[in-house]
Parts: sequence; C-alpha cells; structure tokens
Amino acid sequence: MIYIENIEEAVKAAPTREQKLRMIADNYGLSCQMYKLMEECGELVTASAKYDPHDYRTGYHLAEEIADVRVMIEQVEYLLSIHGTVQEYMDQKVDRQIGRMREAGML
Ligand SMILES: [Mg+2]
Repeated sequence: MIYIENIEEAVKAAPTREQKLRMIADNYGLSCQMYKLMEECGELVTASAKYDPHDYRTGYHLAEEIADVRVMIEQVEYLLSIHGTVQEYMDQKVDRQIGRMREAGML
C-alpha cells in the first residue's frame, strides 16, 4: 500500500537536478569535469555540423548533445563559482548584439 505521507517525504528527500549536478561535480572534481566539458563541446560541434532539417533524428541528436554540454557547463560554473559572472557576460553580450542590430536598422 502507498501512503501519501511517505510519498511527500520521498519527494522532499529527493535531490533536485542542481543538487545532483553538485554531487557529481564534487565527486569528479574540476580537472576531470573540464576535460569532459571539452569532450562534450566537440560532440556538440559535430552534431551541429551534421544537423539536417530534413532528418528529425539529427535534431534529437543535437538536443542530446546540447544537454550534455549544458550539464557540464553547470558543473564547471559551480566548481569555479562563476555562475553570476557568466550571467553578467550573457546579459552584456545580448545587449551589445541588440544594440548592433538597432544600429543596422534591423530592429
Ligand atoms: Mg555527448
């Protein structure tokens, strides 16, 4: 028999994806995860190059490789404590591009 109280406790005890990623990152360490990030970036480059809009399988493969890279990026950001800095750079770069597009009359 399943009791609702037990389900709630199990859900509360279940680690979030962020917590799981930190567990993985802490166990493997920075140098190992940096190497893995490089490897996954290479796989994403290949999947991007092979993407074919007429072959849905290449879209799924691209999605998988994007997920791999994002998983590694989140770990490296955590291990280097650079998540906030990355967010600031992203804001700056997006704003700069929007500015360029406005200057070019695209927006
Ligand atoms: Mg991969």
